[in-house]
Amino acid sequence: MKKIYKPSIVYYEDKFQEGKGVLEENGEILEVTSFEELLSKYKDAEVVEWNENIMVPGTTNIHNHSFQSLLRGIAADKPFLEWRDKSLYAFSPKLSAEDLYTGAVFAFGEMLKYGVTSVSDFFYVHNDGVESDEAIIKAAKDVGIRLVLARTMYDWDGAPKGYVETIDEAVKNVKNLAVKYQGNDMVKIVPAPHSLHAASVAMVKAGHKLAKELGTNYHIHIAEEPFEVEQVQKEFGLRPVELLNKIGVLDESMVGIHCVWLNDNEIKLMGDNKAKLAYCPSSNMFLADGVTDIPAMMKAGVEIGFGSDGACSNNRISIFEEMRMCALLQKVTKLDSLCVNYKDVFSMGTEIGGKILQLPVGKIEKGYKADFVGINKNDMSMQPIFNSGEQIMPNIVYSMQPCAIDHVVVDGKERVRKGEILTVSESKIVKDVQKLMSKLEK
Ligand SMILES: [Zn+2]
Repeated sequence: MKKIYKPSIVYYEDKFQEGKGVLEENGEILEVTSFEELLSKYKDAEVVEWNENIMVPGTTNIHNHSFQSLLRGIAADKPFLEWRDKSLYAFSPKLSAEDLYTGAVFAFGEMLKYGVTSVSDFFYVHNDGVESDEAIIKAAKDVGIRLVLARTMYDWDGAPKGYVETIDEAVKNVKNLAVKYQGNDMVKIVPAPHSLHAASVAMVKAGHKLAKELGTNYHIHIAEEPFEVEQVQKEFGLRPVELLNKIGVLDESMVGIHCVWLNDNEIKLMGDNKAKLAYCPSSNMFLADGVTDIPAMMKAGVEIGFGSDGACSNNRISIFEEMRMCALLQKVTKLDSLCVNYKDVFSMGTEIGGKILQLPVGKIEKGYKADFVGINKNDMSMQPIFNSGEQIMPNIVYSMQPCAIDHVVVDGKERVRKGEILTVSESKIVKDVQKLMSKLEK
């Protein structure tokens, strides 16, 4: 059945506009035009009134590790490798497929509530096979969030056993899952060779080759910490992006995560080859990784989207939050208040993120998916607003709190109403997480 959304204000054609309606059917936007016109054309359509709401596209979280929501607050404020060993490596081997499901419902539920409608889960706790991957896919389905499962390919044997596969196993598992979910609007599988420190050159090449075969992008962590740069330089005599270029995998299908420690030439290489960046400012700050040079990346023509990263290194999982963090961090690093503006970060968190995930999301326009967020314009954190609407986007980026998010719609279905998740019970999520954590604490 067709629905006409009637928000107070909608972000359409790069402007906040009143009096517009958005026509939706089967999860897709069919038309955006004056509400009166839609109503006269489609008399039988259901009208959804959002009288107090500003409708914006749902946000895209292009880098997350859902199970890490279970590890939030554990071994906080430790150096990177110590945090990794005491948090990730200590707990992830104890997690069964059922526990990973609990973690994913928790993560996806929380981020949905904060306006994330598409998430890429960079998932590596496979525990031999695809049962755990399927648990993540089921969690996304149950919560009602759009999922891009960046299924890792990992062959460094210094990590917990459950992460590690041979190249043949990794290729087979990613491929089988990708084929199984081909054509599914809500689930997409992409290869994700973990990084140059956790995947061999042969594994990275296999991931790139598989992405070509599947017609997808591939995701890879790059130069999050100086240790990776040192390691790659020692072994190959090249810097990370130079190595990726040399082995023939640096192209438009590469989504590089973090890219903190790149030099000018590597940034230029990324731009020249149309590679993409998944930027995680809060996580980089939390782990004291360093500051990715976003103005230089933008100048080089690199498309940039945001990731919250795992909730144990952020520790919030909201893309509106990353918009704010990116703008603030870059301004103070460059001592230039103009270097990244609110419009830049808003489009990174919506439209560009959607492009990087290769999904028709992130824009309210005919042909895009009906993934929306309804922001309460009367929430104190959104005020004041002139009649001209001048403050709307600055307020969304710089002052809005999650309590201003009233509605979240994914694929034309309402998932959050008046701030409450409709698909899964929040109190049950919390109960399940508490039960699991008391088991893990022993
Ligand atoms: Zn990551």
